[in-house]
Amino acid sequence: MKAKTRALLDAITHRPARRYGASPSDSLRKARIGRRGLLKAAAGAAALAFWNEENLSAYQGTVNTNSKPNDLKITDLRVAVVAGAPMTCPLIRIDTNQGIYGLGEVRDGASKTYALMLKARLLGENPCNVDKIFRKIKQFGGHARQGGGVCGVEMALWDLAGKAYNVPAYQMLGGKFRDRVRCYADTDQSRDPREFARRLKERVDGRGFTFLKMDLGVGLVEDKPGMVTRPLGTTSRDYFNTQHMFTGMEITPKGIDAMAAYVQQVREVLGSEVPLAADHFGHIGLNSCIRLGKALTNYNMAWLEDMIPWQYADLMKKITDAVDIPILTGEDIYLKEDFVKLASMHAVDMIHPDLATSGGLLETKKIGDMCQEHGVAMAMHFAGTPVSFMANVHCAAATENFVALEHHSVDIPWWEDLVNGHKPLFNRGFATVPNTPGLGVSLNDEVVKQHLHKDHPGYFLPTPEWDKERPHDRLWS
Ligand SMILES: [Mg+2]
Repeated sequence: MKAKTRALLDAITHRPARRYGASPSDSLRKARIGRRGLLKAAAGAAALAFWNEENLSAYQGTVNTNSKPNDLKITDLRVAVVAGAPMTCPLIRIDTNQGIYGLGEVRDGASKTYALMLKARLLGENPCNVDKIFRKIKQFGGHARQGGGVCGVEMALWDLAGKAYNVPAYQMLGGKFRDRVRCYADTDQSRDPREFARRLKERVDGRGFTFLKMDLGVGLVEDKPGMVTRPLGTTSRDYFNTQHMFTGMEITPKGIDAMAAYVQQVREVLGSEVPLAADHFGHIGLNSCIRLGKALTNYNMAWLEDMIPWQYADLMKKITDAVDIPILTGEDIYLKEDFVKLASMHAVDMIHPDLATSGGLLETKKIGDMCQEHGVAMAMHFAGTPVSFMANVHCAAATENFVALEHHSVDIPWWEDLVNGHKPLFNRGFATVPNTPGLGVSLNDEVVKQHLHKDHPGYFLPTPEWDKERPHDRLWS
C-alpha cells in the first residue's frame, strides 16, 4: 500500500481517535469495527488516490473522521476524585462504543455519587443529543452541590459531541463573542490592609489580572470592642449554618466605619482603576448589609457578593435598591428559572452562576441571555480543575453579557499540569478559547493520579454497581 493511501486510511480509521484520547479498551473496539468498515474506507481511499494534494487536504479538513455520530452510544461512566485543586473535585469520564470519551467534572466539594447515580439513565443514549439527555436527568440535580452530577455529565456530553463532530464546544453553543476570556482572582486575606493591598497589586502587576475580588468579612472587626452587636458569648463561627437574618448579628456604626476604612486603605495602595469585588461578609443582618454597602460607595466596588442568601429575592432587592454598588448572587442556583426571577425583578445588578451547579454550558448560556434581556450582566463563579474551567471558558466565549470568570487556583503550581493540550490555560489575566474539538483538553494521567483523594484513590475504575440504578423516573401521572 502506498504511503499516501496508508496515511489516508489511518486518518479515516484511527488517527483522530488517538489524538483526542481513546478509552482503555479502544484498540479492542477498533478491532471490532471490523473488515466491513475497513474495506469501505479502503475503497474510498482508492478513489481518493486520484485526487491531487490540494483536494486531499480539503477532504480531510471538512469531513468528520473521528466517529460515526449517528451510531454513537454511551457505554460507561467512571470517576476519579482529585484533591487539593484547591477543592475536592470529582472528574467523570463517559465512554462510548466508538472509542471516544467525554470529560466532565462534578462541582467542587460535591459527591461523585451525584454523577454515578445518573449512569443507568445514560447507558445506550447517543451523547450528541445533549439537550435531550439534560432534560431527562435534570430532575436529579438541585441547588448548590446537588447540581454537580447533572452539570458534570452535561460538560462531558459537549466534550463528546464536539469530538464526534470535530468542533469546539463554543461553536455548538452558537459561536464566539470573544477570543479570550477575562478571569478574576481571589487573594489570600490579611488583617493588615496594606499587606493585603500589596498581595492584590501583585495579582495585577505579577500575574496580569485585570479584575480582582477580596473577602470582606465581619471577622475583620468582630473581636474588637464595640464593633458588632450579637447574642453575648457567641462568635460568627457559631452561625455557620444559620442564615443571615436569623443570627441576631449586626455591625455597629463603629464596625461599619472600620470595615470601610480597611477598604479605603486597600484602595489607596491599589488605586481606583482596577475593578475590585467583595465577598464573604459573614452572616450579618439585612440592615447591616445596607449600611455597609452605603459606606463602601466611595471605593467603587465591582460588586458585593451573596450579602444574604439568594432565596430571599425581595430582601435582596431591598439591598439592591438601597446601595449604589452592583449587588450580585448566583453561585448556588440550579437552573435558569431563579436567575430570571432575580433579574426580571431587578433584585440583583449582576448574576454569578457556577456552571457546575447552574445546569452546564447550554443552560448557563441561556441564563446569561435571559438575564441580558433585563440589563443584567453575568460573572461566573468557578473553583474546580481545568476540565470544568474549560467548560466555563467555552460558555463564557459564547455568552454576550459575560464579564469575568473566577480562577480559584492560580496559586496551585500543578493545576494546569492536570491536563494536556491547549496551554497555557491561563495567561496574563485571560484564558484563551481553544479551537480543538469538545472542551479542548485531555487528562495528564500521571499528574491526576498523583493528586487523587486519599479516600477515593481509584482512577476511573469500573462502576458496574451503578448500571441498574433506575427506578420509575416520571414526574407526573
Ligand atoms: Mg462567593
